[in-house]
Amino acid sequence: MAINLSEMRRPIESGCPDGMQYMHPVVIRNFGQWKWHVHPRPGVLHHQAKSGDGIWTVKAGTQRILDVHTLRKLCDIGDQYADGHVRFTIRSNIEYMVDDENKVAPLITALEDAGFVVGGTGNSVAFISHTQGWLHCDIPGTDASGVVKAMMDELIDEFKNCNMPNRVHITTSCCQINCGGQGDIAINVQHTKPPKINHDLVANVCERPSVVARCPVAAIRPALVNGKPSLEVDEKKCICCGACYPPCPPMQINDPEHSKLAIWVGGNHSNARSKPSFQKLVAGGVPNNPPRWPEATAIVKNILKVYQSDARDWERVNDWIDRIGWPRFFELTGLPFTKYHIDHWRGSRKSLNSSTYIRM
Ligand code: SF4
Ligand code: SF4
Repeated sequence: MAINLSEMRRPIESGCPDGMQYMHPVVIRNFGQWKWHVHPRPGVLHHQAKSGDGIWTVKAGTQRILDVHTLRKLCDIGDQYADGHVRFTIRSNIEYMVDDENKVAPLITALEDAGFVVGGTGNSVAFISHTQGWLHCDIPGTDASGVVKAMMDELIDEFKNCNMPNRVHITTSCCQINCGGQGDIAINVQHTKPPKINHDLVANVCERPSVVARCPVAAIRPALVNGKPSLEVDEKKCICCGACYPPCPPMQINDPEHSKLAIWVGGNHSNARSKPSFQKLVAGGVPNNPPRWPEATAIVKNILKVYQSDARDWERVNDWIDRIGWPRFFELTGLPFTKYHIDHWRGSRKSLNSSTYIRM
């Protein structure tokens, strides 16, 4: 039978649709033709095009995991006070664009009256980014969005104002191995006990060779337990990373008491003023203490306070620590320094479990 190609359904592509169709007309008209931009106040950017067109962007924080009612409220504000165009940033802030400076103040008033916070631009603490947590993922040891809510409540003035030496990006991550967790300050889960194995379920649920292969320190071996195929863990070798838990849920590692939080600092993707850098551990074994996580929040606030008072203008957290050195960082922040913190000596390949190198 002949196929009529004109009647064939067009393929449905996965992935993001072309963003250009959703852009503000001023952005489309002046794409790639911008002359300058300024930052008239926290939460507002003004871009001016070579054609003479201007566009003002107003940024507001959201709770990231949005319910449909809040989303509708935000969109209604966009329709009424902005030009009907919004976009979400990578840190889950919403941005409105207007083509007239006179629309900026009523838009900010409408947002603030509805309980949203305008800010997050320039040298502020931009909204903390977080991973999916209990809402979407199957392996979290904490609810990253809860940690973010608790911390941002305490850092609201740092979001609304530009009082930091440079911008500060904070991230959270709800397991120890996968997404998230690279920022000026990062709050990541830290497991402190090896997984507990439910031997009755392993044979039914887990593909044992892939679980064995998953362990970065070769601590997992196949074993027969009560006559059934299972696995065993050499607890002396185990670094409690939790990598075996996603492919084998019967190797439960999340624990209300022994899954802690760790705070890392100095990660930077940008190479604007200095090279990108990896973060380093500065506080481990911090209680994973919902619903307000007071211990972790106090450490983050303290690091921010010291950075604010001691860093020079435009130094990111990693630049500041590079200049003053790690001993001074621990001295200024008062955080206890232990042998687990920094390991960048020549022989660290033997002690850092960060490569394919296996310690036997
Ligand atoms: S950080 Fe880990 S637990 Fe959290 S969403 Fe990503 S993979 Fe899941
Ligand atoms: S927690 Fe990590 S180190 Fe320990 S057994 Fe599992 S994969 Fe290996």
